[in-house]
Amino acid sequence: MAKRVTILGSTGSIGQSTLSLLRAAGPDAYKVVCLSAHTNAKKLAEQALEFRPEFVVLGHEGDRGANRDILQDALLGSGIKIGIGPGALVEAGAWPSDFIMAAIVGAAGLEPTLAAVGQGVTLGLANKECLVCAGELFMSEVAASGTVLLPVDSEHNAIFQVLNNKRPKDVRRLILTASGGPFRTFTDAQLNSVTRAQALNHPVWDMGAKISIDSATLMNKGLELIEASYLFDRPSKEIDIIVHPQSIIHSMVEYVDGSVLAQMGAPDMRTPIAYALAWPKRMQTDVKTLDLTEIAKLEFFAPDAQKFPALRLARNALEAGGMAPTVLNAANEIAVARFLQGDLSFSTLTKCIENVLEHFQGERSFAKAPLRLEDVLDMDKRARLKAADTAKEMGGKS
Ligand code: NDP
Repeated sequence: MAKRVTILGSTGSIGQSTLSLLRAAGPDAYKVVCLSAHTNAKKLAEQALEFRPEFVVLGHEGDRGANRDILQDALLGSGIKIGIGPGALVEAGAWPSDFIMAAIVGAAGLEPTLAAVGQGVTLGLANKECLVCAGELFMSEVAASGTVLLPVDSEHNAIFQVLNNKRPKDVRRLILTASGGPFRTFTDAQLNSVTRAQALNHPVWDMGAKISIDSATLMNKGLELIEASYLFDRPSKEIDIIVHPQSIIHSMVEYVDGSVLAQMGAPDMRTPIAYALAWPKRMQTDVKTLDLTEIAKLEFFAPDAQKFPALRLARNALEAGGMAPTVLNAANEIAVARFLQGDLSFSTLTKCIENVLEHFQGERSFAKAPLRLEDVLDMDKRARLKAADTAKEMGGKS
């Protein structure tokens, strides 16, 4: 029987790659039952007309309902149910499915993904921000519901494959690899004049705008550090980060006997997505075969925490625990959005996040890990407001 698949965030980079694999596998293997987008009604309608899901959702109706009208007109007479707004996104997460791909970007994905977790089925998790802003809550819901949680982020997928249910006590440390982003070799002076277009142009991976900027500041690796800690239940000191510009080794696990096992492959997100879709089996993809003789050399460097302070902020937030990762994530989302709008320079972006973290440090509630969704959402909202004010004050200053 065909697996029933929901994709939260189907119009994005991960969403479209997931659909390309489903298209290739055919409807006898996978039946798309539910798709969601934020504002891109045109793309969502195209996807809906091709894959014929039961339910499609647009998170934002647009100015005077313009996005909603585009979707409704395109799907008129199709029999496909349409939902609009945040409540409908949660309904999409709960839509009966065998496999759900969580590929909304940012903390906006938290509630729909928690609704998906509530089904207790198999969840492919691309949305790392869910874990960063609500790690303990999220993992406790996963455990309570019996959800099979399959990491889609390539590094975490690599670790998941390498661990292969090995005994946790046999593991000495996890080693996350990082491409180093487009500015790995830049001087401080060059970093001061980085443009939006340069920051969006990742040398190896083709991704959505937010994660591309996160990769340029190295905040992406910081978020992944926190993600790895929650996913694999490891403290900060047992997770190392190394820069590997070729992005061929996606991550490694060191065992207590000194063996280091790596997962390798061409840098193409279709591999970890295919792993999650087909789990526990494997599926065919047309991802390029890895030719190590063509690549010839694999390089490794220590990350430069001086030049890329986001790594330090993320590690500190993980070690501080409590609400620190929630604040880090919210402040980062606002700072990235302000950078993309041209209100913050590349070098003030991370400073803005640091200032917001410092602001909340004295609060008593900051120290406690949130186990209630209301507490996460409240802190997320307050951190966003503070970040918006901070970005305004800092605007343009380097
Ligand atoms: P994109 O920006 O390409 O796509 C994001 C998707 O989420 C789109 O469908 C978008 O809809 C939707 N969306 C955006 N904002 C909201 C919102 N407020 N409410 C509901 N839906 C929303 O992102 P990516 O595909 O690059 O990344 C998705 C997630 O996967 C991120 O968490 C990222 O960190 C993670 N990831 C991505 C990788 C990649 O290679 N791209 C690699 C590893 C992890 P619309 O199109 O209408 O805006």
